Amino acid sequence: MPLDTAIEYLKGVGPQRAETLKQERSIYTYGDLLHHFPFRYIDRTRFHTIRHLQEEGEQVQLRGILRRLEVLGEGRSKRLSATLRDDTGVIELVWFQGIQWMEKSLMVGKEYIVFGRINLFNSRFNITHPEIEEATPDKLQTPRTFEPVYATTDKLSQKGLDARGLRKIMRQLLEVLRPNEVPETLPDHLLSAYRLLPRWDALQKIHFPENQLDVDAASRRLKFEELFFLQLRILQARQVRRVQVKGFVFEQLGDFFNRFYAEKLPFELTGAQKRVLREIRADLRSGRQMNRLVQGDVGSGKTVVALITMLMAIDNGFQACLMAPTEVLAQQHFDGLSALLGDLGVEIGYLSGTVKGKKRDAILERLLSGQMHIVIGTHALLEDWVQFNNLGISIIDEQHRFGVEQRFKLWQKSKMLPPHVLVMTATPIPRTLAMTLYGDLEVSVIDELPPGRKPITTMHKTEAHRLRVQGIMREEIAKGRQVYVVYPMIEETEKLDLQNLMAGFEALSRDFPMPDYQISIVHGKMKAADKNYEMQRFIRHETQIMVATTVIEVGVNVPNASVMVIENAERFGLSQLHQLRGRVGRGAEQSFCILMTGYKLSQDGRERIQTMVNTNDGFEIAEADLRLRGPGNIEGTQQSGMLHFRIADLAKDGPILQAARSIAQQILELDPELRTPENARLKQFLEAYAKDSKIWSRIS
Ligand code: ADP
Ligand code: MG
Repeated sequence: MPLDTAIEYLKGVGPQRAETLKQERSIYTYGDLLHHFPFRYIDRTRFHTIRHLQEEGEQVQLRGILRRLEVLGEGRSKRLSATLRDDTGVIELVWFQGIQWMEKSLMVGKEYIVFGRINLFNSRFNITHPEIEEATPDKLQTPRTFEPVYATTDKLSQKGLDARGLRKIMRQLLEVLRPNEVPETLPDHLLSAYRLLPRWDALQKIHFPENQLDVDAASRRLKFEELFFLQLRILQARQVRRVQVKGFVFEQLGDFFNRFYAEKLPFELTGAQKRVLREIRADLRSGRQMNRLVQGDVGSGKTVVALITMLMAIDNGFQACLMAPTEVLAQQHFDGLSALLGDLGVEIGYLSGTVKGKKRDAILERLLSGQMHIVIGTHALLEDWVQFNNLGISIIDEQHRFGVEQRFKLWQKSKMLPPHVLVMTATPIPRTLAMTLYGDLEVSVIDELPPGRKPITTMHKTEAHRLRVQGIMREEIAKGRQVYVVYPMIEETEKLDLQNLMAGFEALSRDFPMPDYQISIVHGKMKAADKNYEMQRFIRHETQIMVATTVIEVGVNVPNASVMVIENAERFGLSQLHQLRGRVGRGAEQSFCILMTGYKLSQDGRERIQTMVNTNDGFEIAEADLRLRGPGNIEGTQQSGMLHFRIADLAKDGPILQAARSIAQQILELDPELRTPENARLKQFLEAYAKDSKIWSRIS
């Protein structure tokens, strides 16, 4: 296959450049180079208008009259400054070099064509060292170009493969390739139904478009293809699993469930909780193994859904386990659920790395004999020495801390069939990400908060408002409420952060002195037992203020807490801020979240803070997070190779992804194994892909 030809055989490349292309860009073959897409284009097909310039750094072409031309400044700041005017406005042009020559060759009053990158200087746009030429009639007539810009590196540039050099070999490549050597991957019926460019055309146009329309059409086709095949593979894997992986059937709702519902449940479930429970129940009766993700905003009541699900297992004679990412959280689940269950007769145990000796042995024994119905714990539950009699369901709380392998380890805890798996996320994930990352899971959403919650009031404050903030804290404590004060803790700056935290703690101890006020402190450097002790003091309301690092981020439930002060809030990511805020507002009273920052904020930091102030909706926040940080940085996705796309961008291509997924779904519904002639290309491509793809193994 010509596409498999080694890159060194391409005219203009040769062994040396080939070596550098391999090292720097993993380009080994013609095919690899063909898929090295431009990351932007220089558009000289049209003229921009000065008044509508928007983006710093953008390359623009302008046409206007030169209005002023003078040498300004002395010494190093000496420069030639000119003003260009078009029908809409004026912009400054600046030269620091070649001043004399430029001054001589330009003339005020003449019309020029100017091309360059716009800078922001003293909050005004200018262009330094633009390309400039007189707008003579013949210049205005020659076709203006639209050029691709390829990502390059220092090493590539040294070998002559800078943006221009890459452009040259790309042109060469497209000249030697014949259309039939670049096979179409999508069936004709898809191409025509969704007006997608044929593959060959799209590749031509992505590299050498004539205008923006070409780029749009080409990238739409290529993005679609990329997302479509990913969805096709995910959905196919899921299909296979559905057919092949049998699951325990939990046919009946029994005594535990009924009595819990009638006697113990202290509130009415929300409509969303009921709906999700129905979805879970349907899975559990289906005869197939359940793999379901429950998404729900902080405070939406996922825990009780987990408990009721576990009761369904127990009623059918099975055991259940609930795994949480931290000791504090696991402990809290254990305490909370034990209290909820009361005297129902459910045997429930707690297991973590800190449970040792005889205590541990006793629990392990009861698990193995089947006496214990439910075990709650940390990662320790994954260890080989934890053996069950008949594990029917595993629930993982706050999924983003757990990887796929861990999910898989849980499967192995059951001898006959894999246990059902329910995964609950702490933070909503944007739909586009969920479809890709958790595409192999069914998804339920709890999109409703329990009634009577007042939305949390979120404020942005700086040091100047410190007294006012303390005032709010005092007022709330006087009402019998509790307060969190959270400091960032990031590994690289750990020492400094710890100092900050301790300094903050001391300052608070002065402003909120004993015996009127008691303060707890918890941070990552403390021993687990000490952490737990301090946490428990706060939970029992023996202290009014909890000073902590983000160890309290996930899951902790102290409904009496009504103020969350976050110090250096600009250093937290959006989902983290949202998680932290979710620690308050759990009771019926008004709660506050106060984001403390320095005066100066980066644009990004400002947007994060503003998003927090503007909305309480976790899904909205998740979308903003995706937009600001890109999919690769969303918590829990870093290791996922699935998010490395050539051209698609989950932050922007939601609609294309949506379409690709539903089309893939339709196709698989009609032709699950892609046997019909019209889907032959799909089958062929998937098979070729499966042979040399690591991604495949990640999905299935
Ligand atoms: P999360 O979804 O963040 O894990 P939790 O399960 O911790 O939320 O629930 C938050 C709080 O809401 C708990 O105090 C819980 O008892 C309470 N809660 C859950 N469901 C309901 C409901 N339907 N009505 C009233 N309160 C509820
Ligand atoms: Mg929770």
